[in-house]
Amino acid sequence: MKARVGVLALQGAFAAHELTLAGLGVETAQVRTPSDLAAVDALIMPGGESTTMSRLLETSGLFDELKGRLSDGMPVFGTCAGMILLATDVLDGRPDQRSFGAIDITVQRNGYGRQVDSFETDIDVDGFVAPFHAVFIRAPKVVAVGAGVNVVASHDGVPVLALQGHVMVASFHPELTADNRLHAMFCELIGS
Ligand code: GLN
Repeated sequence: MKARVGVLALQGAFAAHELTLAGLGVETAQVRTPSDLAAVDALIMPGGESTTMSRLLETSGLFDELKGRLSDGMPVFGTCAGMILLATDVLDGRPDQRSFGAIDITVQRNGYGRQVDSFETDIDVDGFVAPFHAVFIRAPKVVAVGAGVNVVASHDGVPVLALQGHVMVASFHPELTADNRLHAMFCELIGS
């Protein structure tokens, strides 16, 4: 049976993720409630504002449900704010902001600084022949990576794309370019 991939749709850049998945022939669904979550096999957590998403995850009742699904091994791809929410440790977060600790990385919110808070660059991804054009928007910076994490791409020596088991994270926005190779990589992880 083909996997149904949810896109967390509480806030942020979820629509473009859905379009990219649809372009790959993947069945998608927007996730806003615990019952939406129960109906998907995998999840994309988009970019946006991690503090707002953290709050909405709690008020919607999704936080604990999602935590349970993540510990049961549901495949997840977090991009930008989504990466922050999946990290073990968050620096410069708001004190009440929560994260799932699903991948053993420490991220610094808005870690690329105000001067260059948004930029685009080509990155080399392990296993890709051509580089991937990566769009960074007030991106989190990965400042520490645990031994079990596989760094798949870096920029200036800083990890920007990483995998640990069923968890994939990117500090940039792969849904904002026409290149769907990272979404295809995630679908391979799901086995879809
Ligand atoms: N700076 C945002 C945050 O802290 C992330 C930015 C993004 O997702 N493009 O959540």
